[in-house]
Parts: sequence; structure tokens; C-alpha cells
Amino acid sequence: MSLRELTSDFIYLPDGLVSGKSILMEEKSGEIIGIQDAGEQAEYFPGILCPGFINSHCHLELSHLKGKIPPRTGMAGFIQQLQSIRNETEIDPTDAANKAAELAFSKGVQAIGDISNSLVTSTLKRTTNSNLPLFYTFLEVFGLNSMQAPAVFEAGLEKMRQFPNEAVSLTWHAPYSMSPALMALLSQVSQKEAKVYSIHLLESQEELDLMEKRCGPMAELFRQWGFDPLPEWMGKQSVTDFVLAQLPKGLKMLWVHAVHVQGKDIAKLTDHSPESAFCLCPLANQYIHGTLPPADLLWHSGAKVVLGTDSLAGNAVMDIGEELKLLSESFPQIPTSALLSWATGNGAEFFGWQNLGRFTTGAKPGVLQIFPLQQGRIFNGSLIQRIR
Ligand SMILES: [Zn+2]
Repeated sequence: MSLRELTSDFIYLPDGLVSGKSILMEEKSGEIIGIQDAGEQAEYFPGILCPGFINSHCHLELSHLKGKIPPRTGMAGFIQQLQSIRNETEIDPTDAANKAAELAFSKGVQAIGDISNSLVTSTLKRTTNSNLPLFYTFLEVFGLNSMQAPAVFEAGLEKMRQFPNEAVSLTWHAPYSMSPALMALLSQVSQKEAKVYSIHLLESQEELDLMEKRCGPMAELFRQWGFDPLPEWMGKQSVTDFVLAQLPKGLKMLWVHAVHVQGKDIAKLTDHSPESAFCLCPLANQYIHGTLPPADLLWHSGAKVVLGTDSLAGNAVMDIGEELKLLSESFPQIPTSALLSWATGNGAEFFGWQNLGRFTTGAKPGVLQIFPLQQGRIFNGSLIQRIR
């Protein structure tokens, strides 16, 4: 057995950043044999060594749309443009998704929670290849027409069979895009399966205006699409109250985006589903809306936070390292160790990937070097390199 001993100025361990330690790793498999005091023979990498990243939310199947939708369209503009160009075929979606997954791995991502509406990534996700991340698929359904809910649900179940069974669940798209009838069908199956689930939530002011006041650009868009009058369930309660009234208690949910989450929402969502996590995708929020999520509020509240990139339709890059840099620069009060837990261990724990996200004996989490740092922090000039 050939071993490597790796050390750095700081090593990110489950209980924080430490100095003077090294990681003992089996060279071929990447398995962590132990953490020990750094010996003189240890290979030294300046900066921080941390486990491979977990991208908890992206849409690989939209990778062929990179650069097609300009920044700052807002939610309604984004949805409208996405619908009209989604099936543009000049770039093959399967090819683009495969390349994006390989690129993500090379940039340090060990595993991905990926949204699918189609079968574009189903072959990719049945492929085992050491240069690819591990996948979990959230097969998302949506539809505002209550009458069509059973058919939409059945079509979702049918698609689900094309993905590896232990790593897929049928899931909610967003509060504004689903009838309570469709949500109820998902609730029934989720209670039986007890897997992990996700929903785009509190992403934009436009979502709040539509769902709470029946006005704004999304209300206009939906009327153009023939929902005139708007569905009767809109405009009656807060987005959070509406969603929690539809979801069974205790599900392992990812609340994706949470840009407009307030303290009272964090408390209600966490109380309803204690094992849930907030998934932040700050670069996509900046790209689509010119906003950032309240990362500091979430950190102070003690909520579980994970990171995602969202899609290349609404983000210039799919790179957790870039998301980390933006958060580190924008929220200097959040400690680096907390940001690293969002990018690594918290995601692994949410998905139940016990061998990932942590430098612990027996795990194979990958090893990344982050360097240089600025006053001990990750900054725009930091480079992230895969060591293993
Ligand atoms: Zn998304």
C-alpha cells in the first residue's frame, strides 16, 4: 500500500481549520488512512487543504444554454427566455451536460445534486467513471393546471425509472409553478419513500409579488400564458406558509435560493423539517436578479446551509469555488470554516454520502488546495486545485 502524507498551513477538518496536522492517504484509492501531526516528510501545499466540494443544486441538462440568456432578466424574463430557447439544438444538450459534469469534477466537485426535467442526463448518471462526480437526481415536476396533475405526476414517475433508483426522487419545482393537487401527489409518494427532496423557494421579489399579492411581472407572464384569472390559491398567504401547508412534515428538503428568506421563515421551515437545508446559489442570484441571499442571517441563525451553482443558463460558471469566493468576499463576518462546511460536509451529510465531504478515516472525499489566501481568507484571487 503506497501512502501519501499531505500537509498545509490549514487543514479543514469536521471541527474546523487546524494547523500542524497532515492527512495520511492511500495513493491509489484516495482513502483517508488517518489525520496526524505533520511529519517532516509530508508534502506541503501552501494555503488550505479541504475535501472535494458538493454541488447541491445544479441543472446539468441546461448546460447547452450557457451564455444564451443575458444577465439581469429578472424571474419572469428568465423563465420566458428559457422556455423559448430550451430546445435550441445547435449544441447537443447531452454532450454539453457530459462536458459540464467532467469540468465540475476537475474543478473540485466530488458529488452533485442535479435537477432534471428530462432524460438528457440519464445515461451520464448510469456511467461509472473516475473523472465524474457522483450524482443524485431531483426529477422535478411542475404544472399549474390541477386537472392535469395526475398525468404530470405519472409522466414524472415514468421518467424516474430511467435513473438509478437509489439516487433519484420526484420533487417539487417551485411554489409558483405547481397546483396544490400536483403537490399533494408528490407529498403522498415522498412520505412513503423518505428520500431527499428540493424546491426553489423565495428566489425573487417577483415570486413574492405573484404568490402574495397577485401582481408583478410573473403575474403578467402567467396571464399571457392563459392563467387569467390567476389560480385561486395565489394571494392568500405568505410563500412560506403556502409551501408548508402543502408539504408533509419532517421531509429532508433543500430550500433552494432563499434570497428573500427572513428570520421568521427560517424558524418555520426548520421547525417543519428539522433535517432540511438552505441551498445558496449566490452567483446565479446575481446573474438573474442582481441580488445576493442573506448568507449572514442564515449563518447567525444556525441553519444548515449548503451550496449550489444553479444552471449555466443563469450563471456564467458552474463552479463551487467561485461561489465560495463570492460569499467570502461579500460576507467577511462569516468564518472561512463555516463557508467550507457549506461547500463540503453539510452537502454530503444532507445527501447521506458518508464517504464524502470530510477528512475522516475511511472516507474518499478528494483533496483540494485553496491558495493564495488574503489575511487567512478565501478571496477573488484564490485558486482551487484538485490534489486528488
Ligand atoms: Zn435551480
